Amino acid sequence: MASSLWYLYEFARKKWIKRFIDAKSDKSSYIPPERYRKIPPIVKFPEKCISCEACKESCPAFAVEMVYSEEYNKNLPVFDEGSCIACANCVEVCPTGVLEMDKHRIETEGLFFDKPKYHNLIIDEEVCVRCGNCERACPINVIERKEGKYVINMALCISCKECVKACPIENAIIIFDEKTLKEKIDKAFEIKNKKTIGKLEIKENAIEEIPHIVNGLCISCGICKDVCVGEIDLKEKKVVKCVKCGLCIELCPTTAIRIYKPIISKRKDICYVIDEDLCIGCRICYKVCGAGAIKISKETKLPYIVPELCVRGGACARECPVEAIKIVKPEEAEEAVKVRIIEDKIIESIEADLILYTEKYGKVKEEIEKLSLKKLKEELKKRVYEENKRIKEMKRELYDKGNNS
Ligand code: SF4
Ligand code: SF4
Repeated sequence: MASSLWYLYEFARKKWIKRFIDAKSDKSSYIPPERYRKIPPIVKFPEKCISCEACKESCPAFAVEMVYSEEYNKNLPVFDEGSCIACANCVEVCPTGVLEMDKHRIETEGLFFDKPKYHNLIIDEEVCVRCGNCERACPINVIERKEGKYVINMALCISCKECVKACPIENAIIIFDEKTLKEKIDKAFEIKNKKTIGKLEIKENAIEEIPHIVNGLCISCGICKDVCVGEIDLKEKKVVKCVKCGLCIELCPTTAIRIYKPIISKRKDICYVIDEDLCIGCRICYKVCGAGAIKISKETKLPYIVPELCVRGGACARECPVEAIKIVKPEEAEEAVKVRIIEDKIIESIEADLILYTEKYGKVKEEIEKLSLKKLKEELKKRVYEENKRIKEMKRELYDKGNNS
């Protein structure tokens, strides 16, 4: 009886009626949220549901079904997560406040992750090689270069991961999901409580060094500050006082707190190689390569790519005016430039020897000057021949070993 009276009272409230009528009539009358999100709402207070179907009516994606619940003895909304576009129309229209977006959104209002998404993407400035592939690949142009670094506007990013596909570095774009983020926030909350009541057991010197904070990765979520028994200055992005417990490193959702710089992990499936028959020697590739992976052959005066230094950014291939740079498998690239690398090394060592002799024995300088270029080339060829022979022998030895074992 009491609940019927409550419903009657609630029903008579103007706001309630307007919402209800809106839901049943004009779907476009709701002001849509800033953008569509990807986390479906949750049925937070099923006991409050009056089965009015306003949520179902308001859903532009037809993602809500009313299903009978034995427990509550009434129809309750059920969300088809695959169809839900998380526009939150249903949350806004529900007259009795049954539905809710996730709780931690409210606590984190104003931070980028108060807008729910399955995944958040952030560029690791310590790993990124600044090739700009992500900026070119982003279909909605939310990646830009700021002060020499590439930055994703996380509030606008739709998590399509096109940038990740285009990035030549495996660990340059960090992806963290909502679930992990929430787990970390909850754990930090627990630790904070223990800290407040003095029950937190801290393992000092668990890590070797005082960590640093990577500016571009820090999202100012404050988790580190919550768990830190020392002092962290988030404005300055600095660990001020530290007992080296490592809790901040463990809980930082974006790995912004670190002891060491991470190793850059390049794509292992491709590499670039210059076709010497097509190359016109303009050296544009040499100028645009930010990794210093392109060298100029002392023998041919043409550029060649050193596979170990190449970061697979592809700037050279994009800029080459005659399309002389191709994508090949790394083994092919290594094979293609082997002779160039050996020649270069030999010439460098001969030059170094000559300089050394010149410095050591002044007189030798005159003798060297007398040496004709032809002789130098002969010497070079001899050494290339010997080097190749040595490599062949090594290969044969390895082959024999493989066969015998
Ligand atoms: S390395 Fe990756 S993240 Fe950095 S600019 Fe290139 S594509 Fe973007
Ligand atoms: S940009 Fe192309 S043509 Fe120019 S030097 Fe490099 S490979 Fe050769």
